[in-house]
Amino acid sequence: MSHLLHRQIHHDYPVGVSGQGVYLFDAAGKAYLDASGGAAVSCLGHQHPEVLAAMHAQLDKLAYAHTSFFTSEAAEALGDELIAHAPANISHVYLVSGGSEAVEAALKMARQYFVERGETGRKHFIARRQSYHGNTLGALAVGGNAWRRQQFAPILIDSDYIDPCYEYRYRQADETAEAYGRRAADALEAKLLELGPETVIAFVAETVVGATLGAVPAAPGYLRRVREICDRHGILLILDEVMCGMGRTGTLHACEQDGVAPDLMTVAKGLGGGYAPIGATFVGKQIYDAFAQGSGLFQHGHTYVGHPLACAAALAVQHVIRRDGLLDNVETRGRQLEQALRERFDEHPFVGDIRGRGLFWGVELVADRETKAPFDAKLRLHARIKSEALARGLMVYPMGGTIDGRSGDHVLLAPPFISTADNVEVIVERLGEAIEAATAGMKVA
Ligand code: PMP
Repeated sequence: MSHLLHRQIHHDYPVGVSGQGVYLFDAAGKAYLDASGGAAVSCLGHQHPEVLAAMHAQLDKLAYAHTSFFTSEAAEALGDELIAHAPANISHVYLVSGGSEAVEAALKMARQYFVERGETGRKHFIARRQSYHGNTLGALAVGGNAWRRQQFAPILIDSDYIDPCYEYRYRQADETAEAYGRRAADALEAKLLELGPETVIAFVAETVVGATLGAVPAAPGYLRRVREICDRHGILLILDEVMCGMGRTGTLHACEQDGVAPDLMTVAKGLGGGYAPIGATFVGKQIYDAFAQGSGLFQHGHTYVGHPLACAAALAVQHVIRRDGLLDNVETRGRQLEQALRERFDEHPFVGDIRGRGLFWGVELVADRETKAPFDAKLRLHARIKSEALARGLMVYPMGGTIDGRSGDHVLLAPPFISTADNVEVIVERLGEAIEAATAGMKVA
């Protein structure tokens, strides 16, 4: 019997014992093609020899040094690397151990920024429904997923929400994508005016919605208009790229494709590619300057900030991605994946929407394509697809149906950046088989 408390109590997982490239192997020797990179993490696949070598080299020198005594070569080098390719106006990074920590740091930095300026009355965060920003209390508070929040709501900081930018569900039939993008962004301005802009700290959003909706990019122009609204009312823009960032969508930062630069930005999963727990908060120059000219510190900190071994791993991951031109492969294989998904599922009676960017794709399942009615949540269709896929040696990341009553079940694909054309074909073929098996006997509603 296992003594580990993982998320699902009544569940026996296979034991993962080894990995090689895009494959994971369990104790029985069965191979799983990692089409989701775990949860959009393993961007270089498993056991990349150069990342392992860089980690060994760091271990031979220094595994750990506390940042109240030392900085480290690995952390400094990673900081230089990240800032060299950061969005405009980002001048510093704060290195933590994962996505939730990066979001917590961003929320606290945003609040402290205004405190440093004497604007102590600012206390609201505006976020979006059907979003996910992490499971720690602050990150959960700005996450707009009612199911995840419900039992913890009484102990969360107050946040306010607007609808996500989610064309499949919210764009009206007679509306262009651009007009919808404007309308969706204008909801932020309405919420700001309702709260009083002088009480608001920041707007928080995933550049491409990951875990809750399944790879939903914003409509054209949406984020540029959001940026304008934030500037007009003097609030900060925090983009959460924990899942969609660090190359996953084909550019290093997803926001490059939307033509916006945030004031604060979070990354994690693809930063270390799963080789070590690491995340980062990117810090805008005005925020750094306010701290530097004000109290002279960021009032926060974790024991493992800037962990040298994690930094060495992330640095190696980022070097390999750049040296091997893997973002080009993300684009090429991404286009192939999109086309294969469309060929296989465009006419499928239970597939409502296929959306994504780069190697980050979501397939939304619905009981009725005409009405977009989701499947009954009790069927747990996403979980069935996951287990049918696992039985066929395929890892896909499933997400629960009818979130806030406004979405269906989804399957998220986020294969490693090293995926080949053959890998992409096999992913779509096995996913097709898994969906057929999971929906066998189901009738169109
Ligand atoms: N933000 C986003 C957008 C995420 O997708 C996640 C993880 N799925 C998090 C934050 C939290 O990251 P972590 O699980 O590393 O704490």
